[in-house]
Amino acid sequence: MAYKETFWMACDSTEQLRAEYGPFHTRAEAEQEARKLGFGFLLRYEHVIGDDQDIQEVRCVFIELPTVLVPRANRKLHTRCATCGETAIHDEVWQAEVWADIHEFEHLRHRVRLFEQTRAEGLKEIADWRDACA
Ligand SMILES: [Zn+2]
Repeated sequence: MAYKETFWMACDSTEQLRAEYGPFHTRAEAEQEARKLGFGFLLRYEHVIGDDQDIQEVRCVFIELPTVLVPRANRKLHTRCATCGETAIHDEVWQAEVWADIHEFEHLRHRVRLFEQTRAEGLKEIADWRDACA
């Protein structure tokens, strides 16, 4: 009786001339390697093997990996007071809020602005963040 053998490859595209790495026995292993290499796809090979150990049929299916999100370690939040120019750097939004709360409490009518810094996009202002959070 014929049986099926499945294995996984990491690959960088679905083109004919693609780079492949593997094989791996599990999807998790292939996915981990793909992430390490910056590859965006997995390829699942299915071999249907006959009685004489010959490959009767080869099926392959491409699976696109979800886009890797920017890790939090690569993102910094900058607060800057528009009134007096005092600045601070934070990891989390709530820390920026606390800093702004204290600053605006201690300095009447000062207005703190929030900027997000990522390696890809640089510094970008998050407008109306205080109103949005309130
Ligand atoms: Zn200020």
